[in-house]
Amino acid sequence: MIWNLFNFHHHIFIINSNVVVKKRKAVSKKPSKSFFQEYNFEITVILLLGFGVFLLVEDLEIKHYIATFIRSVLFGIINVFGVFRDKIIHTVKKIEFSDFVGIAFILLALYLITNRWRERMILRYSSALECPNCDKKLHRIHKTTNQMLLSFMFFLKVKNYKCSICSYKTVRLEKYN
Ligand SMILES: [Zn+2]
Repeated sequence: MIWNLFNFHHHIFIINSNVVVKKRKAVSKKPSKSFFQEYNFEITVILLLGFGVFLLVEDLEIKHYIATFIRSVLFGIINVFGVFRDKIIHTVKKIEFSDFVGIAFILLALYLITNRWRERMILRYSSALECPNCDKKLHRIHKTTNQMLLSFMFFLKVKNYKCSICSYKTVRLEKYN
């Protein structure tokens, strides 16, 4: 009897709680803006105006404190940048002699590889000045932007040639003398 009563009450409670949850969910689904969200702009404008007027009307002492505060904030920011700069200088100073030697070796290796690559390119692009199809002399034509860049990067003369009879084209790479 008592158990039955309890069960009955429990059941009711569950139903009631379900209803409550459903009602709450229904409420939260509505796109309701809070007062601050709704009047965000107005509040900001009023605060700014009020603060501005207050600063104009108030006596010099408060203005002085605010000016000091702004100045100290600005100097704080500058100081942070200064510390950052000092850290960089400290790190650069900490680079040891062995690091410089290591960097030098790497740079030397890169230079040697590039130089070898350059020599091979010159060998590969050292074609004859006659057309292989017509046996006629080739004419110089303008080089492209990419070729100009290549010429600058590898310190090479890039010469573009074209046959006046057929459509044969070739590129020659030469060293500056
Ligand atoms: Zn030709």
